[in-house]
Amino acid sequence: MSHDFPAYRGEMEYCCLGCGKRYPGDSLLYTCPECGDVLLLENTRFGELKEHGGAYWRELFDRRASTRSNALRGVFRYYELLAPILDEEDICYLGEGITPVIEAAPALSAKVGVPFAYKNDGQNPSASFKDRGMACAFSYLKWLCRRQQWDEVLTVCASTGDTSAAAALYASYIGAPLKSVVLLPHGKVTPQQLSQPLGSGATVLELPGVFDDCMKVVEILAEKYRVALLNSKNAWRILGQESFAYEVAQWYGWDVSKLCIFVPVGNAGNITAIMSGFLKMHELGIVEALPRIFGVQSEHADPVYRYYSAPEGSREWKPVQVQPSVAQAAMIGNPVSFPRVRALASRFVKAAGEKAFQVVQVKEQQIMDAMIQANRHGHIACTQGGECLAGLMNARDLGLVGAGEHAVLDSTAHALKFSGFQSMYFENAFPPAYGITPDTALANRPELLLPEEARQGKDVMEFAREGAKAVVARLGLVEK
Ligand SMILES: *Cc1c(COP(=O)(O)O)cnc(C)c1O
Ligand SMILES: [Zn+2]
Repeated sequence: MSHDFPAYRGEMEYCCLGCGKRYPGDSLLYTCPECGDVLLLENTRFGELKEHGGAYWRELFDRRASTRSNALRGVFRYYELLAPILDEEDICYLGEGITPVIEAAPALSAKVGVPFAYKNDGQNPSASFKDRGMACAFSYLKWLCRRQQWDEVLTVCASTGDTSAAAALYASYIGAPLKSVVLLPHGKVTPQQLSQPLGSGATVLELPGVFDDCMKVVEILAEKYRVALLNSKNAWRILGQESFAYEVAQWYGWDVSKLCIFVPVGNAGNITAIMSGFLKMHELGIVEALPRIFGVQSEHADPVYRYYSAPEGSREWKPVQVQPSVAQAAMIGNPVSFPRVRALASRFVKAAGEKAFQVVQVKEQQIMDAMIQANRHGHIACTQGGECLAGLMNARDLGLVGAGEHAVLDSTAHALKFSGFQSMYFENAFPPAYGITPDTALANRPELLLPEEARQGKDVMEFAREGAKAVVARLGLVEK
């Protein structure tokens, strides 16, 4: 037991967004047994946290930044705001959270015309933001297994690639009684993403179709069989992902009033969590004003954009059939968390004004161009990070981002997970369905300077002289 660990305990309840019914948080529940709608978790003793002012919490979280307690090193730095029913022994820390905020390279910022930063969530252990939510969901599972004395629990998820990588990682670290099964749309995750659950030893099952199809299968399993669902339908994941908001606020000295946060939207769990996190901090006086939140969607998977682009009063929710998208991790036509977005966006707008929540749409071409540009300026953006930059540029062109504002873009995964799309760009090899024509000036490929045979039958120095000569000729180097 570390003496840093908080004594405060809350009480968590599931709250249905459809009928408002509430259920105790000590059992696995994904949808409302009454009406089938999605749930959010609430700490019924949240009010007690208000006995302290905002300054108390700011100082506490700042102090915790130097903790040596494993349990509090990651997303649980903000323990009281996440799942304050867990005990120290339950918390699983694999290095998630506290990811760096990197200000845009000056040349890139000048080109975009708006000051901005990337928050590199690809620097999480499984190289995406999903680890934030998994750390919380798996810590809760440990807590639950301990209470229920379960001897075997099958964890399942459908995935566009990163959920399965994260779920398999945490399940394999914790080990018994947990066993991980992941369900993937065949051919719709990148080779790097596929290698992750395989390497963690999970059972990897594939089905034809797209993510939305796999999600339906997993929902049937979770409803009828004894499995633990780890998609963002699992409300414990949302709590963990709120940490993104807490970290942004802390990094900017708890003043987020001038920030515009850009978030790629797929299943819509992440943007839900980020809004929820900022609202909690606002309620406790930890931040005095809210930032503005911009959801970003590709025109090939844009149901949330379509909903919000209609004027209030005539909005109609309609899932869409997705088209191939380089923002593949967000290629979802029927986002499970849409009701959560609707609920939180309306609270957000009520607290911070109509322009505090918006959704922008980007083209596939813009996503790729933006990602390539970002990474040519020292960033490590994935395609979804490119999508955010494209979203910022469109928001700028539409006059949605004002002078004096500062954008923070969520690069939700590491560039390396999506290097196949970079290759397609450099080799002009996109299948027509993506609708992407690369800027050939940016194509970058390795150049073989000497044929394979050139190495044969020569000693190291002889070959080195020949190699150096070839490099000098290629670069036109001048002797000093
Ligand atoms: C899952 C994922 C998204 C989409 O997040 P949602 O919570 O589903 O909206 C975006 N980018 C990456 C890299 C992801 O893995
Ligand atoms: Zn209900």
